[in-house]
Amino acid sequence: MSRPYIIGIIGGGQLARMMHQASIALGVRIRLLAEGPDVSAAQVVHEVVVGDYTDPQVLLDFARDCDVITFDHEHVPTQLLEQVEAAGTAVRPGPDALQYAQDKSRMRLRMTELGAPNPEFAICEQPEQLVAFGDEHGWPVIAKISRGGYDGKGVWKVDGPEQADEPFAVLREEGSTVDGGTISREGVVIVAEEFVDFARELAALVTRSPSGQAVAYPISETVQREGICAETTTPAPGLDGSQASELQQLALRIADELGVVGLLAVELMQRRDGSVVVNELAMRPHNTAHWTIDGSNTSQFENHLRAVLDLPLGDPGLRAAHVVMANVLGGDEEDLTGALQHCFARDRKLRVHLYGKDVKPHRKVGHVTTYGEELADVTKRARHAAGYLMGDPNA
Ligand code: ADP
Repeated sequence: MSRPYIIGIIGGGQLARMMHQASIALGVRIRLLAEGPDVSAAQVVHEVVVGDYTDPQVLLDFARDCDVITFDHEHVPTQLLEQVEAAGTAVRPGPDALQYAQDKSRMRLRMTELGAPNPEFAICEQPEQLVAFGDEHGWPVIAKISRGGYDGKGVWKVDGPEQADEPFAVLREEGSTVDGGTISREGVVIVAEEFVDFARELAALVTRSPSGQAVAYPISETVQREGICAETTTPAPGLDGSQASELQQLALRIADELGVVGLLAVELMQRRDGSVVVNELAMRPHNTAHWTIDGSNTSQFENHLRAVLDLPLGDPGLRAAHVVMANVLGGDEEDLTGALQHCFARDRKLRVHLYGKDVKPHRKVGHVTTYGEELADVTKRARHAAGYLMGDPNA
């Protein structure tokens, strides 16, 4: 090749921003299709096109000079991605794999085919089907919109038959929204799931390249609050070594069977008896692997870029015995950098990542990572720093 690789990233959030950071060391050029001129990644990437990724012409023009297209989010319609591939630019992960991250009903059916552990579920087009599912498997039931939900938006806990209509009301409203983003009604259904009274949530993260090389990160324990990832601990405390390796194998097998290229996050729920079920799949760098930037030998962002370029993948091993990541969510304080003096003075092993986003309540605006030999200490330091950055001096 006579010029550096050009990777086109669709979506300008913090994941694209951190992919850009990883691209600098690789000497790779990033071109960004951003939703606005000031979004998180557009502040740092040099080559930015502001445009609508659902407009075929915008997407085709953007992709034309890129060697490969990858994603900050999973919302690009697969039909458009097929057009990009047909026009000669590689799309990684490709539309055949991405459909299972975009559509929870397809994902559940495919996991069943693969023999991966699912909760009890049913695909529902009418409230009566949801009621029948609840009566058979017990209430409450978790109802999820099959497409377009994120960060817990589009997920309902339905306590009994009298609430069964609520998720379908969202489907029926033409042009209705899940938290501001209009979602297409076509082919959208409600997935009813058994309410899993889980002991904790886990994440299995793997990266796979087109030629089939794959690496698995250690399993993380994750804590979600109000549908948003709040904290991860790696390796997951108390997880038996053989079960950890089974979960890594499961994620590697899913990546392989689905032909995923790049990062695959398999979100898992662990029941009180220790068994696990798959919650959902994400095919892009993932919040539950932000710890890898400072806590592993090769970050998820670098391995994702290496994978989409079909370069050999890097060692996913831990750099310390325990690594904790805590998300920084928007609070009252608009200037986050003012807290850095205190946080850094207190903890020399603290790593802070701020995304350049306007601070709004409950919005992900950054994360911190701590690492060390004593889990209780590492956790305390991460919580203190994240809390302090969120405006709580007593955290
Ligand atoms: P999103 O796509 O918005 O992230 P998820 O499907 O991951 O939605 O669900 C959000 C959260 O809801 C999960 O992290 C988990 O805490 C909870 N949840 C999801 N499915 C179930 C279930 N079947 N039983 C109990 N809790 C669930």
